[in-house]
Amino acid sequence: MITAEIVDKWMKLFYSKISEQKAYLSELDTPIGDGDHGNNMMRGMQGVEDSLDKLSNPDLKTILKTVAMALISKVGGAAGPLYGTAFLEMAKNCEKTQAPAELFKLALEGIKKRGGATTGDKTMIDVWAPAVAALETDSLSVEKIEAAAAGTKDLVAKKGRASYLGERSVGHLDPGAVSSQYLFESFIEAGGI
Ligand code: ADP
Ligand code: MG
Ligand code: MG
Repeated sequence: MITAEIVDKWMKLFYSKISEQKAYLSELDTPIGDGDHGNNMMRGMQGVEDSLDKLSNPDLKTILKTVAMALISKVGGAAGPLYGTAFLEMAKNCEKTQAPAELFKLALEGIKKRGGATTGDKTMIDVWAPAVAALETDSLSVEKIEAAAAGTKDLVAKKGRASYLGERSVGHLDPGAVSSQYLFESFIEAGGI
């Protein structure tokens, strides 16, 4: 069950992973993008922490909505509105259900709708989709998440900047898939499942 306390812990852990891996994420974005993914995510997570610091005892819906708004306004780049949409969908639905499998599924549907990408397009969806499938069978693990992100290396990019390279995008990890790997690892570490 996702709670406000878990989301708070989750965001702190995600922020620290993004801080540690900022240079690496931007490096991954260099051969197949514009080299800014780590900086974008860092700006976004600083915004998330600043906004969360201003809340006192927020309920689940407020905290999820605050995360969404900070990501949408601060990340810049394609990833901001996509991550933002994911948290907004969770905020919209968290009064009906607090089950991770259901909330992440709705979040994934939001990402797909917003960006028009699907599984296999070499995007963050290639981590989100297997993560949701694993949550549905109670089998999400760090190993599965890492394998999903690693799997983007062999894919041809069909959406986002990397798609301009076509076949030449093969052999490179997708930066948004790797930041999503950190997001799900942080969720597990925060006690989300
Ligand atoms: P930008 O490409 O605008 O510089 P970022 O570098 O912050 O934005 O984010 C790039 C990441 O966003 C990609 O690695 C990919 O995972 C994700 N992405 C881009 N376009 C889409 C899309 N249409 N659907 C899902 N994810 C996408
Ligand atoms: Mg980029
Ligand atoms: Mg950019």
